[in-house]
Amino acid sequence: MRKWLLLILISALLLISSCQEENPYTEYQFIMDTQCAVTVYKRADRQAIAGVFSLLRELDSKLDRFNESSEVYRINLNAGSMPVSVSDDTFRLISRAYDLCLATDGAFNPLMGRVSDLWGFESTNERVPSAEEISSLVSHTDISGLVLDEEEHTVYLVDSQAALDLGAIAKGWASQLAADYLKSRGVERATVNLGGNVYVIGQHKDGRDWVVGIQNPYAETGGYYATVQCHDEAVVTSGGYQKNFVRDGVVYHHILNPETGRPSDSDLISISIISADGALADAFSTACFVLGYDETVKLCEEYNVRAVALTEDDEVKFINF
Ligand code: ADP
Ligand code: MG
Repeated sequence: MRKWLLLILISALLLISSCQEENPYTEYQFIMDTQCAVTVYKRADRQAIAGVFSLLRELDSKLDRFNESSEVYRINLNAGSMPVSVSDDTFRLISRAYDLCLATDGAFNPLMGRVSDLWGFESTNERVPSAEEISSLVSHTDISGLVLDEEEHTVYLVDSQAALDLGAIAKGWASQLAADYLKSRGVERATVNLGGNVYVIGQHKDGRDWVVGIQNPYAETGGYYATVQCHDEAVVTSGGYQKNFVRDGVVYHHILNPETGRPSDSDLISISIISADGALADAFSTACFVLGYDETVKLCEEYNVRAVALTEDDEVKFINF
């Protein structure tokens, strides 16, 4: 009798603990200018979350070009005067940014800082600059003026008018570092969401992939126009609806065409890139938004990444699925 009772008790306990173990648990913090959420499923994994947020804060403190103590701020301050020695993380990210600029034929260009400032997207002084102002700054965005010294770990902007802006790559990169950190802490199942830059770790307990919803630009936050199934990958979305202002009935959004220095005007409303490489997913999402649907298909085929596009005629296209 006792044995039976014990068995029933143990199995009941197991059931309870397995239910508790698989409850999603999320913590939020505002870092990198966005709402960051980390979700874990096992109770024991909760203790790893604090480390993710401190990692993200550390990355932000190095990469935020508006923070006077950041490495990127120092690189920009010393543009045209001298190379700046930076940490390993920052050096690797800037090297990736350089390579991804070449890979996208300059549609992703990490030297758009001054042009972006001209439009005031990161401030409350949004305005439409004159054609002269724009063209005078676009001439200072040549990627060959970004000089990286592998041995010295230094970054040098040759042109004193150039400014590094990693806003289109940093969150995707950071989401992958956060995922790597969680895995190093033994976490097998989790999601990291940095303001819509999602990185999923592992799969559901029963072996199913995660289902990630892609924001419908026409709906309230949380309304999806498509879903993708994935595991151990980043899903990064760029769209003109995310940050913009309206002047005289015209919408000016924050993703610039590096060739014109003006908000891009392709046939895409939204583009999501799915790749295990978080930095690539982020840089490509920005580049593809600039390039438009046809070039997106070519780029995704060349680099073997999946993408979901919403075109201006409201068609949903799954690329490389
Ligand atoms: P978000 O950061 O809003 O998720 P993106 O990843 O597309 O969106 O990055 C947009 C940011 O990157 C802009 O706010 C600006 O700082 C910078 N940027 C704008 N256009 C470009 C571009 N063509 N290439 C690289 N960076 C860009
Ligand atoms: Mg991007």
